[in-house]
Amino acid sequence: MSPETVLQQVFGYSQFRGEQAAVIEAVCAGRSGLVIMPTGGGKSLCYQVPALLREGVAVVVSPLIALMQDQVAALQANGVRAACLNSSLSAAEQLHVEQAVEQGELDLLYCAPERLLQERCLNLLHGSRIALFAIDEAHCVSQWGHDFRPEYRDLARLVELFPAVPRLALTATADEPTRQEIRERLGLTDAPQFIGGFDRPNIRYRIAEKNQGRQQILSFIREHPGQAGIVYCLSRAGTDALAAWLNEQGVRALPYHAGLSSESRSFNQSRFLREDGLVMVATVAFGMGIDKPDIRFVAHLDMPASIEAYYQETGRAGRDGAPAEALMLYGLQDMVRRRQMLEGGEASEERRLLERRKLDALLGLCEVTSCRRQTLLRYFGDELPQPCGNCDTCLEPPQTFDGTVAAQKALSAVYRTGQRFGVAHLIDVLRGESTAKVQQFGHERLPTFGCGEEYSKTQWSAIFRQLVAMGLLSVDIAGFGGLRLGPDARAVLRGERALWLREPPRRRERRGSRIDRQQLVDAADENLFERLRLWRKDTADELGKPPYVIFHDATLAAIAALKPDSLEALGAVSGVGAKKLDTWGEEILAVLAAHSEA
Ligand code: ADP
Ligand code: ZN
Repeated sequence: MSPETVLQQVFGYSQFRGEQAAVIEAVCAGRSGLVIMPTGGGKSLCYQVPALLREGVAVVVSPLIALMQDQVAALQANGVRAACLNSSLSAAEQLHVEQAVEQGELDLLYCAPERLLQERCLNLLHGSRIALFAIDEAHCVSQWGHDFRPEYRDLARLVELFPAVPRLALTATADEPTRQEIRERLGLTDAPQFIGGFDRPNIRYRIAEKNQGRQQILSFIREHPGQAGIVYCLSRAGTDALAAWLNEQGVRALPYHAGLSSESRSFNQSRFLREDGLVMVATVAFGMGIDKPDIRFVAHLDMPASIEAYYQETGRAGRDGAPAEALMLYGLQDMVRRRQMLEGGEASEERRLLERRKLDALLGLCEVTSCRRQTLLRYFGDELPQPCGNCDTCLEPPQTFDGTVAAQKALSAVYRTGQRFGVAHLIDVLRGESTAKVQQFGHERLPTFGCGEEYSKTQWSAIFRQLVAMGLLSVDIAGFGGLRLGPDARAVLRGERALWLREPPRRRERRGSRIDRQQLVDAADENLFERLRLWRKDTADELGKPPYVIFHDATLAAIAALKPDSLEALGAVSGVGAKKLDTWGEEILAVLAAHSEA
């Protein structure tokens, strides 16, 4: 069989995406490689297809035991002989899997790294034929990354133990030091690297100033009724509080963070995977390896750590290729907090410099007035020739104004008050408010006092934020977040440099930015789509599996649009492979028939 035939018959897809074909060809020819593709880019097929074409069992190393079961279920639904070995199995189940491996009855074996490297497992593999090793989430070998897992380091042993077996390392993390470390650790220094395009055109990016964070998140969620989404928060306490508040507002939301017991974490996670339309409110502890394909939105109540983190977290939306939306809120307070976290840690000076640059790049993305996607992709070394037309700055181009004078006033307020006050006080000075603090320091006698009445508090805080983002002001971390002049501030104060700023925000009507399920179903028959989803939910519940293991939303929408009237026509729909056609084809046709009679 050819790779294309496997793709069509087993997975029901008509063609390979991006680098998939090249990777598969290399692995089938027995070569190793490093695959870098964004989340949702289609990494799994890169090893699943060769697993079916090469002799022996493909061993997939994955760090997330809780999710292996679902991955295996999804493969089995396609008729693939897959199993997993991990600590959640009983002794009898484990024995059963081991026998299947020995007898050459498995195509794919999912394994946690610590399990794989146990003598028992290594002996089992030495006695069997191995098609390939796939090392998923390969950035876990890197101690730079936030997902470092010590067990991953020991995977280096595979290089000596199984020198003839191809190794495929896969990750969505893009930065060069991490790539380098993966290559070294996993013996891939001479192996080819496959980099998929980073663009995720179906995700709409929006970045907005935070003014009433919770309310903003709530109205964003309400733009996506009945859809599944994730809201990221910085702290555990913030996560709990937001989840509770959302429930009071009638949104079904669950919390997830490292402070919860492992039972409640896995309970909430499995509810999120299995039930429709739940919102997961989480810290970054949540998400790695979650391959729920129909997450329709990701929101950040607090600014993420870097563009990489933002990209990875937002990338969890819309893996099925249907429209999805990402909203990030940010404010001056977020910048201060992130800076504090960065300076307060125990990292080396070199490391800190790197982190500072990463934070600056993120702030640049927040303040950019041109296409967000172009900025985002440029950061990863990808060029998008045209503005995307699917981000907030493309849909509603921000107005800019000559902010030189405003900036001079703000900078001079900082300078004249001695470079030690925070934004709230500086704005009081500019707007001429005689607060107790102003009187205490005699600030009403400054020439700057009351010189900025033309802007509101909100407008001033937007101006200050942009000055911080541009490095004209820096946040004094040790001194409780007071602002000081940055090195380039003098040129602005002396009038040697003109500054264009984003128009201070006014309440504007949002237009053209609403994505609803209408777009997903689009040409499809909405009622029929609903019927199919109900059928899927029942079927999934009966099997005790998440609904998407049966069919993705995108596949159901295509069925609802095309209304195939025979098994053959149904089999031609993207996402319907031979096994699924065989298992559920008749039932689907029955749902379609019942619908057309009704
Ligand atoms: P990743 O592991 O890179 O995050 P996945 O392997 O989970 O991404 O793939 C993301 C989604 O894209 C899955 O729903 C998968 O079924 C789908 N997909 C992958 N490759 C193709 C393809 N060639 N054609 C259609 N859909 C695909
Ligand atoms: Zn754009």
